[in-house]
Amino acid sequence: MALTDQTPAWLTPECEADADAALAILTDSALEPIVDMVLLARNGAYEARSAEGSVQFRRDGNGGYEVLDTEGTSPIADQSTDRFVPLEEEVAHKNPRRRDNAYPHAFDHTAQLFDHPAAPDLCVLHSADHNWEDQGGHRGEHGSLGIIQARAPLVLAGKGVRNDGLVPRSARLVDIAPTVLELLGIDRDTDGNHLNGQDGVVLSDSLDLSAGSAKHVVVLLFDGTNSNVLYDMAARGEAPNVARLMGMGTAYQHGAMAGMPTVTLANHTSVVTGRLPGHHGILHNAWFDRRTGQQVITNSNATWPTAMESCVSGVDSIHDAVHRAEPGAFTAAVNEPCDLGADYSTFHFFRRGDVPPIPKSPEGLPHTTDRFVRPSKDYSWSSVVDHMGADQAVGIWGGSYRDESYAQLPRFMFCNFTLTDSAMHEGGPHSEVAAAAVRDSDGRMGEILTAVEKAGVFDDTAFVLIADHGMEESDPSVNGDWDVALREAGLTFRDEGYGFLYLGEQPG
Ligand SMILES: [Zn+2]
Repeated sequence: MALTDQTPAWLTPECEADADAALAILTDSALEPIVDMVLLARNGAYEARSAEGSVQFRRDGNGGYEVLDTEGTSPIADQSTDRFVPLEEEVAHKNPRRRDNAYPHAFDHTAQLFDHPAAPDLCVLHSADHNWEDQGGHRGEHGSLGIIQARAPLVLAGKGVRNDGLVPRSARLVDIAPTVLELLGIDRDTDGNHLNGQDGVVLSDSLDLSAGSAKHVVVLLFDGTNSNVLYDMAARGEAPNVARLMGMGTAYQHGAMAGMPTVTLANHTSVVTGRLPGHHGILHNAWFDRRTGQQVITNSNATWPTAMESCVSGVDSIHDAVHRAEPGAFTAAVNEPCDLGADYSTFHFFRRGDVPPIPKSPEGLPHTTDRFVRPSKDYSWSSVVDHMGADQAVGIWGGSYRDESYAQLPRFMFCNFTLTDSAMHEGGPHSEVAAAAVRDSDGRMGEILTAVEKAGVFDDTAFVLIADHGMEESDPSVNGDWDVALREAGLTFRDEGYGFLYLGEQPG
């Protein structure tokens, strides 16, 4: 279905009584340590509700929002984008309470969620320090609207980018796709957009195309990387390749904000399509579709190869836009499940049943920290996956990977690295394992920069370094699951992807 045919997923009259009963429990002070707020859409307006108060707002018809009503303190009163930078500020204000936190773009990032027909009845956001004990007890968490969980790093560098260094500025991840296409010199349509249905804008302040556009753009995504940690390590010489890009370009100190929910595949797809999750169709890592009675899981090893089938029709990608303008151009998606329209994609191998041989262990591979590979299965596996990604990217820039030759250099390449997410979840963003993951990923990225140099096109290439969401340190003593209290009250519901509540549905 086309986006314009979608009806917002307003709460239905049948669910109203259950929703009010659930809201009374979720916004009770007993659950306040773990529930930050609840988002919902009913009667043509959006609501954010917490133990301290609530706000009701609606679209104003001009791309903005108007507040209809506030009771007590609005949980999303502070939508500033500049909080808790640099790293020392974040560390000094770990686990901010709601009244001390910021929720960037909270009106827009709430409303867009309910534009998807399979949006939940209630979207529960966990508190800044909540530790999902039942889901592995990660020391690093994300998923919420809170600024540390939403904030990804953003570095633009190379051909067509201004060399302004670290600037006190923020953006959104949906801005990446139009900005990449502008860097490549791809024309906009008559509405001034590069992509069908794009939510983002070109980050013109950071571009200078007076000496010509980029012949190539490489986007490098370090999954789940806390931006303060990345910039700090670059400044201290611990991530020399990140520092190299920052030194020749513009880095956004306040980051690029992920859309809601601030989870992986929803936001990878936002980067590649320029649309928010409620608009491209990858609503979450998992959700429930009442129209089919099916649970949809997109972010798993088993479902990555086919995840993009869940996108709404008419969704448009950077790869598509490049091919529309230049039918013969070559584009590549390395280790990236959101590969819509890419000529080369790692996931083509999976769909064809022709997966390259995967090393059993990362021991002996370059850029792997043995100290963490041995004790951590996740660190070990992600190191292998990322090594294979770097290998593919280097091969493509060198003209061959496995038995395939690549006669053309990629106009656009997207490279996804997963180790940073595994490690920052495992130890938290400020841990030694997180730092090791940044160092290892920096080394792999360096191999790709060298491959671009060897191809002789470094000076004609622009680079974009990002993540898909932020990462916030959790507190293991703040745990528990709101589902328990809701079930004790006799409510029937499904809780998908942790926090997407579908009322009246039997649990799967
Ligand atoms: Zn992620």
